[in-house]
Amino acid sequence: MTTTNGKQKNDVLLRVKDLKMYFPITQGIIFQRHIGDIKAVDGLSFEVKRGETLGLVGESGCGKSTTGRAILQLYRPTAGSVQFENTELTSLKGEAMRKMRRNMQMIFQDPYASLNPRMTVGNIIGEPLEVHNIAGGKERRERVKELLEVVGLNPYFINRYPHEFSGGQRQRIGIARALAVQPDFIVCDEPISALDVSIQAQVINLLEKLQEEFNLTYLFIAHDLAVVRHISNRVAVMYLGKIMELTDRDTLYRNPLHPYTQALLSAVPIPDPVAEAEREKRRVILQGDVPSPANPPKGCNFCTRCPARERVMREYGIDCAQIEPKFAEVEPDHWVACHLYTPSRVN
Ligand code: SF4
Repeated sequence: MTTTNGKQKNDVLLRVKDLKMYFPITQGIIFQRHIGDIKAVDGLSFEVKRGETLGLVGESGCGKSTTGRAILQLYRPTAGSVQFENTELTSLKGEAMRKMRRNMQMIFQDPYASLNPRMTVGNIIGEPLEVHNIAGGKERRERVKELLEVVGLNPYFINRYPHEFSGGQRQRIGIARALAVQPDFIVCDEPISALDVSIQAQVINLLEKLQEEFNLTYLFIAHDLAVVRHISNRVAVMYLGKIMELTDRDTLYRNPLHPYTQALLSAVPIPDPVAEAEREKRRVILQGDVPSPANPPKGCNFCTRCPARERVMREYGIDCAQIEPKFAEVEPDHWVACHLYTPSRVN
């Protein structure tokens, strides 16, 4: 399928390979010695196709927001490759990077903190138009009014300040700002988690409508599997800086393979009381805490909490705490990092 601007839907828009984002830990005040690293993102590889939504899910602190920022080069990755439309972003600098940023925008989690309280809505949304020399003066004002309408806000709000809006309206302002430069790709970093439940669905519906209208591609970051299910075409499940499982949405929810995904899904409520009671019996309660990203396990990152670890030792003789599983395609378009599915690939 060809889009209005001649670009093919389902082409690979973004290619991430072995992406690492480490934050150094130092000791000493004058001679700061490097004594270790927080491995926030530790070797991610995935692709995002034009026009799709890839959901990135995981518990708080698993590295998903850092992944979004490293893709947009708001953090410069420690290692790995990020290709956007076949351009390597990690080596772009200065003006070339600034031009590329026009194609990639971000919608932030907290609509209260992400908008400058001293700027009018017109200036907040119009700023990127000026920065990228797209429109100024009267043209800029008209464009901002159009954008307000596109996100469902009254264009007469243009001279108001963020504190005059509700949380949902502020998130709409953030979305309008991201749309101002007509990007291809938007990282939605938990865009509804700070909002009241009653307006979360409205913002999701708006994002879906805009995707259809402007052929947008989303990386949708969330900690809630139920939210991601609604909006995503494919879902990647992240744990302690690594992707544990990646496949299309229906397969993931119908047939989760990784023990971590199974545990997460067993905790999502079902709106049918009979099915819910039945599922309650099979609920997987994970023991223990997530290890520190400064000192992750040597083998599988999930080994300290995994209910299947003993089975792998018994059946395959593999010690998950010592040997890291490969992130492998175990079925067509279904990627998993677990020895249960790739025991023969060890060695
Ligand atoms: Fe569990 Fe081992 Fe699979 Fe890791 S590799 S998820 S510890 S069974």
